[in-house]
Amino acid sequence: MARKTAPAPTYTHSETLFQRAKDLMPGGVSSPVRAFKAVGGTPIFVKDAEGAILTDVDGNKYIDYVASYGPIIAGHANERVVAALSKAIGRGTSYGAPTEAEIQLASMITGALPSVEMVRFVNSGTEATMSAIRLARAATGRDLIVKCIGGYHGHADQLLAEAGSGVLTLAEPGKSKKKKLAEAESKPSTPGVPPSTVANTLLMHFNDLDGAKAVFDAHPGKIAAIIIEPIAGNMGVVAPKAGYLAGLRELCTASGALLILDEVMTGFRVAWGGAQRLYDVQADITCLGKVIGGGLPVGAYAGPKRLMEMIAPIGPVYQAGTLSGNPLAMAAGISTLEILQEPGAYETLEQRSAQLAEGLMEAAKDAGVPIALNRVGAMMTVFFVPTEGATVTNYAQATACDTEKYKTFFHALLSRGVYLPPSQFEAFFPGLAHTEELIDQTIEAAEEAFEAVGKS
Ligand code: PMP
Repeated sequence: MARKTAPAPTYTHSETLFQRAKDLMPGGVSSPVRAFKAVGGTPIFVKDAEGAILTDVDGNKYIDYVASYGPIIAGHANERVVAALSKAIGRGTSYGAPTEAEIQLASMITGALPSVEMVRFVNSGTEATMSAIRLARAATGRDLIVKCIGGYHGHADQLLAEAGSGVLTLAEPGKSKKKKLAEAESKPSTPGVPPSTVANTLLMHFNDLDGAKAVFDAHPGKIAAIIIEPIAGNMGVVAPKAGYLAGLRELCTASGALLILDEVMTGFRVAWGGAQRLYDVQADITCLGKVIGGGLPVGAYAGPKRLMEMIAPIGPVYQAGTLSGNPLAMAAGISTLEILQEPGAYETLEQRSAQLAEGLMEAAKDAGVPIALNRVGAMMTVFFVPTEGATVTNYAQATACDTEKYKTFFHALLSRGVYLPPSQFEAFFPGLAHTEELIDQTIEAAEEAFEAVGKS
């Protein structure tokens, strides 16, 4: 942790494991961004984690803002979550039969989200979004979907068109970042996706309502749904402009399309319920994941009965899963939501996140490094903008940021015991275990890290 004067850490064991891992798994990892490709160096291999602190296999300790890319909001190995899991594990790990725990988690979700009456649990965010799209297409009898350039909704083929997150992180600098809408349409983000698979995927820019209208005007009566992260989180964090989500809602309603809010990242993180509660916008279908699984593999798609009852077995839209509604995952999700339901939980998240954001802004200013700090509740990004005072409100501005500076910042903090996401385009996730002291330590380390950026 924030080891201002301590000797430089060593990563010998991580390096050895990384060499072995690279021989056995592509890039040595189970998900691309973990390989540190965008920032260079060796990924730290984690030995264990508790609260906000990660310990790597070399014994180095870090204040963790990756939080498993969002699920860990109550802290690692939170004692209540561990107790719930310990209790559940002794009763068997999977049955392929319904359990009361599913009812409990589903009722917490329906209670929190006014747009939701029914929930179908799946195992990941990817499954949630791809199933939501199937449902939207079935419900509307239309094929076209619209997503944002730089928006990420998991790795289903049809959604890998101009995707954010790891796809953006691994993009060659300057390539594919400044595309105009027309050129960008329907191009797969990865080999292995036939152009025909994304031919039904239309693109728009986040925070550009006129652009969305133009897409609808060009395809009257043909669009099944917009799928959107209500707060963009996979090009770095970008909040929706006032009226943007309401405008999309109107557009969908007027044209008989559905609005799918992908709240895999934002759900129960930015507010009880998620971004739709924060911005008072009604989704037709909501996708959830991350926090509702408390660190276990869970996703869900959810909506009103009239839509959800189209899903098998009561309706014709097929979707299934051997491990869906898994009892361990339900137990972790329920206990995490119980923690968040306690009075003051979101206030604490807000306070700690604001403390961090303010400290980072001041530290950057003192070091003369221009940044834009985008934050909604407990998700935020430090963007290394080209000039003082520049803002990041869209994809073009996000991708114009200096990824080399981010790299310097990332490593300066890693060596000082602060673990940030290894990409300019992933969010920082403070949680309930980040105490004021830990945030102060983070800010102290960041003062030096911004100085290093200033000198680079
Ligand atoms: N949607 C959003 C908004 C996400 O941020 C992510 C993952 N970061 C996904 C979907 C995909 O979720 P998963 O990685 O669990 O498949």
